[in-house]
Amino acid sequence: MSDCIFCRIVAGEIPAKKIYEDEDILAFHDIHPVAPVHFLVIPKLHIPSMAELRPEHAAVMGRLMTESARIAGELGCADGFRTIVNTGRVGRQEVYHLHVHIVGGPEVLPAML
Ligand code: AMP
Repeated sequence: MSDCIFCRIVAGEIPAKKIYEDEDILAFHDIHPVAPVHFLVIPKLHIPSMAELRPEHAAVMGRLMTESARIAGELGCADGFRTIVNTGRVGRQEVYHLHVHIVGGPEVLPAML
């Protein structure tokens, strides 16, 4: 059994509110949403963080971004959304399985940068 929580979600060992799944990627709602829409999109392959991305991951990561935008639109983020990838200690990454946060809703988000 993997000790990676997101690998365990992929394997169906722990529950998640899944939104979309195909052979390479999985989208599910964040368990602690910070906005009306807050979901995560992950590659099923265990890549610990963005720092470990390699050229052979380009195709799946391209599709992951494309599907992220499509799902955001379907969940009502017609006027935009924020895309966040926390990486490593400095980036305050908590779960070491690469994931893209999509955050949005009807209201304009607080300024971040
Ligand atoms: P970070 O690694 O800092 O980008 O954040 C990890 C994110 O994963 C946080 O927003 C958590 O709320 C979320 N998270 C952790 N465990 C779960 C889970 N079992 N299901 C859904 N989201 C989770």
